[in-house]
Amino acid sequence: MPAIAYLECARCHHRVSADTPQTLCPIDAGSLYVRYDMEALKKTARRERPAEIAAAANAAGKTSAGMWRYADVLPDVEPVSLGEGWTSMIASQRYAGLFVKEEGANPTGTFKARGLGLAVTMAKQYGLRHLAVPSAGNAAGALAAYAAAAGIAAHIFMPQDVPLANYLEGIVYGADVTMVDGLISDCARMVGERIKAQKEAGMAAEDVWFDISTLKEPFRVEGKKTMGYELVEQLGWTYPDAVFYPTGGGVGLIGMWKAFEEMEELGWVRGKRPRMYALQATGCAPMAKAFDAGAAASEFFQNADTFAAGLRVPKPYGDAIILDIVRASGGKVLASDDATILASILDWAKHEGLFLSPEGAAATAAYDTLLASGEIKAGERVVLFNTGAGLKYTDMTADAMKLRRPGSLPTSLPVGGIITPV
Ligand SMILES: [Zn+2]
Repeated sequence: MPAIAYLECARCHHRVSADTPQTLCPIDAGSLYVRYDMEALKKTARRERPAEIAAAANAAGKTSAGMWRYADVLPDVEPVSLGEGWTSMIASQRYAGLFVKEEGANPTGTFKARGLGLAVTMAKQYGLRHLAVPSAGNAAGALAAYAAAAGIAAHIFMPQDVPLANYLEGIVYGADVTMVDGLISDCARMVGERIKAQKEAGMAAEDVWFDISTLKEPFRVEGKKTMGYELVEQLGWTYPDAVFYPTGGGVGLIGMWKAFEEMEELGWVRGKRPRMYALQATGCAPMAKAFDAGAAASEFFQNADTFAAGLRVPKPYGDAIILDIVRASGGKVLASDDATILASILDWAKHEGLFLSPEGAAATAAYDTLLASGEIKAGERVVLFNTGAGLKYTDMTADAMKLRRPGSLPTSLPVGGIITPV
C-alpha cells in the first residue's frame, strides 16, 4: 500500500500535507484529491495484484477483501472494513451490452459504504473522535455503521422525510441523529454552524466535530474511485463505451474519472474513456439544467422534490468538476420524472428480477430514453450503476405506487408491537 505523497486542490492545484486531517483547500476552498508518487507506484502496483490480494484475504479467513483488493492504489492504513466493494456486474437479459453494477450488495445497502468506509478508516488513523455529516439519507446510514465499527461518534443530519430505513439505521447503529425540516443543503448549513460554534466556544480540538461531507474532505472520493477500478477489471481491463451514474453529489463520477486517470498512468487500461452520463430526477435537476444551459456550475435548485431521495441535492459541491468530466467524456446530464422512474423500477423488477433504487431507476429510465433517441446504440457496452438496494426505499416506493398493506393493520404500529419481548 502506498504512502500518500500529498493532497492536491482540484481547482488551483495547491498542495497540502496529509499528515493531519484536512478538509478543503486553504486558498480557494476547492476539493482535495489524494495523490501518490506515481513513478514509485508504477514499480509496486501490478494489475494482477487485486486478485492476489483478494485470494490472500480469503485464505486468511477474513471477509473478502472487497474494495481493498485495490490496496496497491489506496492509502497505507489498517482498513475499517465491513466487506464493502467488489460488487456484482449483472448482464441485462434484454439489452445486449448493458451491465448493471449492483451497489445494493454493499454493507448498509448502498455505494456510500465505499467512500465512508475509507473516510472513517482515515478518521480512525488520525485519531478523530467525532464525525458529522449532512446527508440525503444513505451516507448517514453508512457513516453510522462505519463509525460504530471504528468506535467513533457519528453526528448525522438528514431531512425528516428520508426513507424510514435511513432513520432506523442511524438509531440502530447508535448515532446522534438530527432530523431536519428541510433539505440536505439545510443540514449542511446546520453542521457548519455547530462546528463553528464549537470552535468559538473553545472546545478541545478532539471534541470538535469533523465535517465528513461529500467533497469537503479527500477520502470519500478516494473510496468511491474503486468503482472505476472494479468496472474496468470486471470488463477484462477494458473500458465500456459509456457509464450511467445517478448523480446527487456526484462523488462516484468524480472518483471513477480519477481511477481512469490513475489506471492509464499505471498502464492498466488503454483506449478511449467511456462517455459519462449523469442521471437526475426532474424534481431536482440542477446538473441537467446547468448542462443544458452550457453553464460552468449549477444554480441552487428551488423546491427540490422527488422520491429518488438520494438525488435531492439542490446544489452539489462538486458541480463544476462533474460538468467538466461529463463534457470532456462526450456524455450528458439527463433527468427523468418520477412516474418514468417508478415505471422503470417495476419494469426491471418484473423482467430482470432486480429491485432497483429510485436513483438506479433514474439511470435505467435515461438508458431507455437515450436508446430510443439513438444516442446509445444497441449493443454498446454500458455499465449502469444501481447505487442502492430497492429495499432501502420500501416506504417511498410503496407511497409512489400508492400501495398500502392489505388487512386491518394500523398505519403506524406502536413500538414493540410486532416483536414482543416474550
Ligand atoms: Zn485550491
